[in-house]
Amino acid sequence: MSTPDEHDLAALRAYLAERDVACPSCGYNLRGLQSPACPECNQALKLQVGLAEPRLGHFIAGLVGLAMGFGFCLIVGAWGLFEAPRTAMLIPLGAGVIVLGPALLIWVRWRGKLRRATDAARTTTVIAAYVLSAVFVSWFLAQAK
Ligand SMILES: [Zn+2]
Repeated sequence: MSTPDEHDLAALRAYLAERDVACPSCGYNLRGLQSPACPECNQALKLQVGLAEPRLGHFIAGLVGLAMGFGFCLIVGAWGLFEAPRTAMLIPLGAGVIVLGPALLIWVRWRGKLRRATDAARTTTVIAAYVLSAVFVSWFLAQAK
């Protein structure tokens, strides 16, 4: 009887026996590999299941929306500290950093939940990410007039 590790190695050997597969680390052709490590770069290898279509579109779209707002608030706020602007202009920038920073972290942490959501829910969430960013940028622009 074989252990799970032996079974995994047998599956890896069988998979690579007749396929030209490049090492994900160095690109070396692993065809016919017998050990669970790349002979070129020595990285450990394993056979695993991957997604045929990762569906990252909504995740990346929302990430960009939040990152644009966060980046704007961070850069303009940092610049504003040295230029001694009106305090009213710093409030939306500080609030933007405080709200959009954690929103970015939550977005990254909950990417799996986003994948499992319906298309409508994903689209709504992405739009909400852009609206949230736009609120802080608009608030700043209104104060800057
Ligand atoms: Zn390698």
